[in-house]
Amino acid sequence: MNLEHHYATLGDAFYTHVAVQPLHEQRLVEFNQTLATSLSIDIKSPHTKALLMGEVTLPQSLSMVYAGHQFGGFSPQLGDGRGVLLGEVRGQDGLLYDLHMKGAGPTPYSRRGDGRAVLRSCIREYLASEAMSALSIPSSRALALFDSREAVYRERPEPGAMLLRTANGHIRFGHFEFFFYQGKQAELDQLIEHCLEYYYPECLRAEHPLVAMLLAVVKRTAQMIAKWQAVGFQHGVMNTDNFSITGETIDYGPYGFMEDFDESWVCNHSDYEGRYAFSRQPGVGLWNLNCLMRCFSKHLERDQLVSILQTYEAELQQHYDDLMLAKMGLEKTTDLHDLLPSMFQLLAKEKMDYSVFFRLLAQLEEAEFDLLLDEVVDRQALSAWLQRYQAARQSNALSWSDVSEAMLAVNPKFVLRNYLAHSAIQAAEQGDYLPFRRLLNVLNSPFEEHPESDELAQRSPEWGKSLEVSCSS
Ligand code: AMP
Ligand code: MG
Ligand code: MG
Repeated sequence: MNLEHHYATLGDAFYTHVAVQPLHEQRLVEFNQTLATSLSIDIKSPHTKALLMGEVTLPQSLSMVYAGHQFGGFSPQLGDGRGVLLGEVRGQDGLLYDLHMKGAGPTPYSRRGDGRAVLRSCIREYLASEAMSALSIPSSRALALFDSREAVYRERPEPGAMLLRTANGHIRFGHFEFFFYQGKQAELDQLIEHCLEYYYPECLRAEHPLVAMLLAVVKRTAQMIAKWQAVGFQHGVMNTDNFSITGETIDYGPYGFMEDFDESWVCNHSDYEGRYAFSRQPGVGLWNLNCLMRCFSKHLERDQLVSILQTYEAELQQHYDDLMLAKMGLEKTTDLHDLLPSMFQLLAKEKMDYSVFFRLLAQLEEAEFDLLLDEVVDRQALSAWLQRYQAARQSNALSWSDVSEAMLAVNPKFVLRNYLAHSAIQAAEQGDYLPFRRLLNVLNSPFEEHPESDELAQRSPEWGKSLEVSCSS
């Protein structure tokens, strides 16, 4: 493994050197071989394995410092309170990837926290980040999971664990806010140069590299959130310290995947005001980008920053429409103006399962709607909608069956339902990782049939719908 240390060259203002503190009797319980191969990491090498487990102290490993707007309020100093960046590796795709250990022990940024993570939250992050990648949503990924015999105290004692994860970058909007609000211009400039060099090198050729980079950050963020909305993903804690400048989904906490359709859904039980409700995510993305843009008010004119921000909405809308058209099997030119809101109204009224609905829509026989009508109370309303849908779909030049096939390739059969994660966690806490592995397996290829795991595509039982997730992890 060729570990590089680029972030570490930035200097003391950007981090504190911290070593991973292994857990008591920690064990490697899951390793992502596919991801490792793409990063040229060979776990069979004893030195590499010891390094990845935090058993070799790396003088360069560090915890990053950053700030952030949390639920609307500014926290001037946050940082990796339980995370350690081991270094970066070059992927076979030519991009740089951080190796970042979560739950690595206390750091100078732990505040009142213990620096640890519980098995429950590591499994939740493992499953979600892999599911998101398989859905083609840029995301951090899980490379290795370690469990232990160390108890970590939350509302109850829980098994402690660590998750080794990768992402193209962990530099957050909050990194820029940290230096901007202290008036540290030199460090801010250094951070800009660093991001251009390692994450946006193509922008260095532009007439104005910073403007080009900010436009690219806006574009990636807009596309990421469009993808969240299309698959029904809710992040739960969209603070600016949880937003990466690489436009990847990071920091999986009290997230959720939409089941019974409800645009006002709030997955995080600690989000009392519903600030990060599903339907608010596109607006919050813009709010966060606005926080980011403010950090460049010494570099660019206000008008320039505003015009960069103004590209967000159109980018998100266009990307979202394209994704929804593909989900519905409709031509790019189809007008969704009327078809989409009426569909959402129906889904909400019937409390239809979001993913099951699209899967059934894909499998409709031409003019044979019973498959879906049997799912609802108001057959008449759905039937009227299906007729309009059918008319739109018939304008598609491809045959009905070719369209169906294309729809099945973009509408997942397997989604990470909360109760499935919950069951996998309960078993893992008893030392049985089989349910976790079976779930991971279907989430890795969610569009395919997995006849041996058909029950994992079922809707939640009633008890599974009332499970609560919060910020405690
Ligand atoms: P999050 O809501 O997960 O993004 O966390 C917000 C901040 O709290 C980050 O700076 C985390 O590093 C920190 N944090 C979360 N949990 C812990 C913990 N158990 N110990 C120390 N710091 C933590
Ligand atoms: Mg965070
Ligand atoms: Mg977190």
